[in-house]
Amino acid sequence: MTVGVIGGGIGGLAAAVSLLRAGHDVHVYEQSPRLSEVGAGVQVSPNASRVLHGLGLADALAETGVQPLAWHQRRWDDGRTLLRAPIAAPTPHYQMHRADLLAALAAAIPPDRIHLGHRLVGVDGTEARFADGLRARFDVLVGADGIHSTVRRLLFGPDAARFTGCVAYRAVVPAERLRHLDLEVTAQIWMGPGRHFVHYFISGRRSVNFVAVVEQDRWTRESWTDRAEIADVLAAFDGWHPQVREIISAADETYVWALFDRPPMPRWSVGRVTLLGDAAHPMLPFMAQGAAQAIEDGATLAALLPDAFDRYEQVRLPRTSRLQEMSAGNKTRFHLPDGPAQRDRDRELAAGSRAWSFNALEWLYDYDAAAVLDR
Ligand SMILES: Cc1cc2nc3c(=O)[nH]c(=O)nc-3n(C[C@H](O)[C@H](O)[C@H](O)COP(=O)(O)OP(=O)(O)OC[C@H]3O[C@@H](n4cnc5c(N)ncnc54)[C@H](O)[C@@H]3O)c2cc1C
Repeated sequence: MTVGVIGGGIGGLAAAVSLLRAGHDVHVYEQSPRLSEVGAGVQVSPNASRVLHGLGLADALAETGVQPLAWHQRRWDDGRTLLRAPIAAPTPHYQMHRADLLAALAAAIPPDRIHLGHRLVGVDGTEARFADGLRARFDVLVGADGIHSTVRRLLFGPDAARFTGCVAYRAVVPAERLRHLDLEVTAQIWMGPGRHFVHYFISGRRSVNFVAVVEQDRWTRESWTDRAEIADVLAAFDGWHPQVREIISAADETYVWALFDRPPMPRWSVGRVTLLGDAAHPMLPFMAQGAAQAIEDGATLAALLPDAFDRYEQVRLPRTSRLQEMSAGNKTRFHLPDGPAQRDRDRELAAGSRAWSFNALEWLYDYDAAAVLDR
């Protein structure tokens, strides 16, 4: 089948590779003049790396991806360990620079299949219309155009993404500046009142990525991502453990993102046009699953075509909706103010509660999105 993919982010490119490998005739259209990702890290969990390994990208991921030994949850002020769960999965859990992941995906697609500088503005059946006048018709059209998806709006009408009451500061720090901290190779998440802080190695351990999430009532800036001051991040993490503050201080620059999501949709497809990734199921990043689910979507879609989209939705919607809800729930759990609820949470963590353990999420991490027909 001929398939047009709108959007050349992680979701669109991963879908294109899955669809090409399944023998379809695929073209990707990206509005930007070049493929690019934000200068930050991404966790590629085992359910996503399984798909990418199946697509022949194991070597490319291993080249720069860092495999953490454990998932380490800590208390915000004294750094006490709340839970330290070793990560052991049949396929690796990688922590990578986003640009490296995007480059690995792009390298698996013939260059003449990626069309840059084309912004989709209209959809007529399965014909895509672009701002520059180009029109292209396919058997199937896939909207992988992100949280502010045009395809979604054209299919289902306008509905604004909702501000979740959280912003995320992100930065990448050269690891050599943090050598004195002797950081362990784990995914560390520090939980405190109204905020949390995540850091991990990327780029073959040459850099440390951090994400600092802070609750705030409103987002008043014009754009939904903006440059920010290191001093603002330090002020937001005043009184936090010295390790957190030293990692923040070591950054040269930081950007702040307003975190938006949407409630799960009842369906994603109209006729032979469908959605995937953030266009279909944007979620808070508090399960580190947005990109992973986008990668799964493409694998399942490729396994199911040319069958109807009903099956794609039946398989994908319950899983991604569950993760949208769990991600939103983690906002409360991560950000509990010190007090009885926080003490209950910490007791559960100390007891190694299954609900909190990385390896208790077999349904999430041991899932094979490409094996949908076997199921
Ligand atoms: C702070 C933070 C941390 C995160 N951490 C993780 C993590 O560790 N692990 C994880 O799995 N996920 C993580 N996520 C989520 C993840 O980043 C997203 O879910 C993922 O990038 C979505 O990919 P996508 O391809 O669906 O959308 P996008 O990455 O938004 O790509 C959409 C593409 O479509 C293009 N486009 C848009 N409109 C048009 C148009 N009209 N015509 C043509 N092209 C268009 C855009 O230019 C863009 O290139 C995190 C998110 C945040 C905010």
